[in-house]
Amino acid sequence: MFEELIRSWDGEFVATHFDTESGTWMFVCVHSTTRGPAGGGTRMRTYETPADGLEDAMRLAGAMTLKMAAVDIPCGGGKAVLATPGPLDDATRRGLLLRYGELVDSLGGTYRTGPDVNTTIEDMDVIGERTPYVFCRSTAQGGSGDPGPYTARGVFHGIRASVGHVFGSDDLAGRSVLVQGVGDVGARLAEQLAEAGARVFVADVDDERARDLAGRIGGEVIDPGTVTTYECDVYAPCALGGTLNAESIPRLRCRIVAGCANNQLNEPDDAARLRDAGILYAPDFVINSGGVLHAWGKEMLGWSPEVVEERHAGIGDALTAIYERAEADGITTAEAAERIARLRLESA
Ligand code: NAD
Repeated sequence: MFEELIRSWDGEFVATHFDTESGTWMFVCVHSTTRGPAGGGTRMRTYETPADGLEDAMRLAGAMTLKMAAVDIPCGGGKAVLATPGPLDDATRRGLLLRYGELVDSLGGTYRTGPDVNTTIEDMDVIGERTPYVFCRSTAQGGSGDPGPYTARGVFHGIRASVGHVFGSDDLAGRSVLVQGVGDVGARLAEQLAEAGARVFVADVDDERARDLAGRIGGEVIDPGTVTTYECDVYAPCALGGTLNAESIPRLRCRIVAGCANNQLNEPDDAARLRDAGILYAPDFVINSGGVLHAWGKEMLGWSPEVVEERHAGIGDALTAIYERAEADGITTAEAAERIARLRLESA
């Protein structure tokens, strides 16, 4: 199964290691180094089979190549999966991360990692004990820390640009924005939207979290079960993927979908469904790139806070270019983002 997957993949290479101590398969997939060292987070998960973990890593690595190119970061794309046999105790997890750090180090900087699903800033500190090729270590350890606030900043700029495209002015005063999921990114996004004068609606399965935030920013809490039918200017999915699908799209009552969640479209056809419903979709891999811009920019490219903020604002410009390209070429915004990224890759 591994053989078939690796042979048919369009990426550059896969480094595989079986960690006997923890029973974990490590897969580092370097999809492209055409534009620079491959960057992408490390996901820790239990999969039905190890091959499912490898396939996930390959797919995510390809998406990172497009993401880096779409927002013009001089990096390629990669991703790693640590496919664990089940929950690990603290000591086993630490041992695994140290040995994984050695694997990353052995690649000599071709692949540089960061946090992803089920890996934290603290985990990056542990990996950092074995390799310098790791982003988002804690600031105490010399890293750039939690990317969440920076992802939120990028989404804020992306929402402004999307509002500007649809309504002719990017002024958020009086615009209604529904933030689904007010965790690390969503809460900070909601704060910035409220500061900019937007009417902010928040929904979270953690009701107390939603209420606390709404109280602080003067927002309104809505039932998480009604999110996709709630009337608003902007729906910002900031919780989980797959909320845009054949069933939910016809019921949406918003003009724009723009949020940080990964994999918002359940399937590629959903981009056309949104367009046909007259809803502007900000491709997730572009609008949620603020955290990567900050970490890679600060740690690898030496960007100052001013340059980082400029690049965050640039996410808005990138989206505007994508919207214009989609209209000019008669394609969806998701296709336009991919087309722009592929052109950058070809000319690298
Ligand atoms: P988080 O875990 O801190 O927050 C997620 C929030 O969503 C939590 O408050 C949770 O209670 C809530 N939630 C879960 N299911 C829900 C549902 N069905 N309805 C409403 N609320 C629900 O995660 P985060 O770091 O804020 O990331 C949010 C999303 O953005 C994820 O999809 C993540 O992959 C993506 N993302 C995050 C970053 C980043 O820098 N943190 C970067 C890019 C993409």
